[in-house]
Amino acid sequence: MKRIAILGSTGSIGQSALAVVDAHADRVEVVGLAAGSNADLLAAQAARYRPRIVAMATGAAIDRLTAIGLERGVAIGGTGRDGLVAVASHPDADVVLCASSGTDALEAVLAAIECGKTIALANKEVLVMAGGIVTDAAARRGVAIVPVDSEHNAIHQCLHGRGARDIRRLILTASGGPFRGRSAAELERVTADAALQHPTWRMGRKITIDSATLMNKGLEVIEAHWLFGVRAEQIEVVVHPQSVVHSMVELIDGSILAQLGVTDMRLPIQYAFSYPERWPAPLAALDLARAGRLEFHAPDTAAFPCLRLAYRALEAARSLPVVLNAANEIAVARFLDGRIGFTAIPQVIERAMDAHAPVEVPTIATVRNVDAAARAHAQDIARGLELKV
Ligand code: NDP
Ligand code: MG
Repeated sequence: MKRIAILGSTGSIGQSALAVVDAHADRVEVVGLAAGSNADLLAAQAARYRPRIVAMATGAAIDRLTAIGLERGVAIGGTGRDGLVAVASHPDADVVLCASSGTDALEAVLAAIECGKTIALANKEVLVMAGGIVTDAAARRGVAIVPVDSEHNAIHQCLHGRGARDIRRLILTASGGPFRGRSAAELERVTADAALQHPTWRMGRKITIDSATLMNKGLEVIEAHWLFGVRAEQIEVVVHPQSVVHSMVELIDGSILAQLGVTDMRLPIQYAFSYPERWPAPLAALDLARAGRLEFHAPDTAAFPCLRLAYRALEAARSLPVVLNAANEIAVARFLDGRIGFTAIPQVIERAMDAHAPVEVPTIATVRNVDAAARAHAQDIARGLELKV
């Protein structure tokens, strides 16, 4: 039995992970669940999966949870970052799936690593903020970080244990999002509703907007650097609208290995749970004849500057990726509120990066300080770019 704790169990990835548990009840057991504010769904999940421990983001959410009622034997691990740490470091958990949105799970991921647990990582923001700290801790503790993000999961499958020495290039595929092919001028007027219509994947709101700006791919470039130990110039992005090839690895002899599959996150989640084994999956088979043509194009970084900004942050390293991530979260939230336009998102990020003098970020405390300052500054920049109604 693999005993799993899920951070973000009420979200898109979290619910897919519980579907994987349902399909493999003889192999996987849920021992911990954490969520943000959806107490009704967490209560239903707790009743069904009988975890040892649960946590929620706020005291109000915990109050609602206790009002609904929890089974005897389900402990409440607390709120906020402490609650996430309690669930992630519960002694009965072997694998911690980090699938909460935002960055509150950073301390929890580190706590799980210190306890020697395998990390199934969906949340890319954690590696963008503190990739060096997290991967150093995992190496020191001999803990595996198995990526759930479909591109990195594909690369993990293709590499099959090979290290950075064997890699010439990683090729990350991007669907291109709902606005693929639009010019910068056309993007001025797009709405949040249109940006939330992703052509191939159903995901949470923040990552769906990141997919529309291509910042998602930018964050994934930084994620790939930390997971696979390759330099920025070894990571290439190609737009592949069909989302059939989930990513590729070019080895030093020029051979390119690809992983193909249906667009269903249950597959990479199950791989992260089963690794190093393989389990059968109750998913539809990929119909290649129906997929038809597979296309690959260079990304348009003039219309979608976020990808360029992410490369810039990775190349400058130190604290600049923290600023990129913080400013992006603020800008995306403001865009979703209807306060700023779509093309203001990269403007907020670029101005925040331009204003920042990079510093070393050797500890979580320094990461959190840079993050807080960058968020405050990005709020000011976003206020200056607000749409006139
Ligand atoms: P969702 O918005 O659908 O879900 C987010 C989850 O996190 C919810 O369960 C939410 O709880 C919970 N949450 C939010 N804040 C906190 C907090 N402070 N403490 C505890 N739980 C919290 O997002 P996704 O599932 O789409 O994405 C989750 C992560 O996985 C992101 O980092 C994303 O980049 C990554 N990812 C997602 C993919 C996808 O296909 N969806 C693909 C690759 C990566 P509640 O709803 O109860 O408030
Ligand atoms: Mg991805």
